[in-house]
Amino acid sequence: MATARRLDEVVPGVLVATAARYTTTSTVVTGFGAGGCLLVDPALTTDELAGLAAALADRGLRAVAAFTTHPHWDHLLWHPALGEEVPRWATARAAGSMRRKNTELRAEAGEHATGPSWPGAFAALPDDATHLPWEGPPARVVRHEGHAPGHAALVVAGALVAGDMLSDLEIPLLDLDAVDPVEDYATGLDRLAEVLRGPDVRVLVPGHGHPAGREEALDRLAADRRYLEALAAGRSIGPEQDPRLADPWLHGEHERQAAAVLVR
Ligand SMILES: [Zn+2]
Repeated sequence: MATARRLDEVVPGVLVATAARYTTTSTVVTGFGAGGCLLVDPALTTDELAGLAAALADRGLRAVAAFTTHPHWDHLLWHPALGEEVPRWATARAAGSMRRKNTELRAEAGEHATGPSWPGAFAALPDDATHLPWEGPPARVVRHEGHAPGHAALVVAGALVAGDMLSDLEIPLLDLDAVDPVEDYATGLDRLAEVLRGPDVRVLVPGHGHPAGREEALDRLAADRRYLEALAAGRSIGPEQDPRLADPWLHGEHERQAAAVLVR
């Protein structure tokens, strides 16, 4: 039996586990009858996935539904101990992308795709579905194309489960395969700003990094807008303007984005 992982309750009924690599979060939303829960972006190593299953079992929880925020390998993993028959949802666009790019995603996942954690098919959420079809606390789906095709955040139980947006550690990472990645990202931020201005959110859970209250979430959003504006204007930007760029990996991603935006 795997060692149960730590789960932090960020608002009542919303628990977050944080994986070692990329500070990747997985979110658990309780409240479907006795012990049923929704699992968002389970991650990351096989041991961590088994540990997540053990943590749920320890609390008398079992996954009855799952959601993947976007079609990147570190957000679509699974483990049999989490349940064999759990419906796993993604937006129709994200599900289509995962199907088409399965081989590529599997190569990117490397050792994490071996064994039991590589996923089977996802259930495509109809484009007109405003909420996840589960009977726990209402989970509103906020779609945009900011970071990956068919990206969606969930607004559920007072939390904004944002996927790969609004991170304290990562700069905005654009979908450079899109026709207008900067515009897509800006639109994504606008959608999230609207959610954060509304009454439904007390806490933000980013896909990588640390959960934050609403004020800090708005600060992150402003920082992301500043980064995006500098990128679009071709202005040089470094760790003095955006401390997240002190990370060598993100600095490299930034250079790649800056070059890609320039040639458009
Ligand atoms: Zn991602």
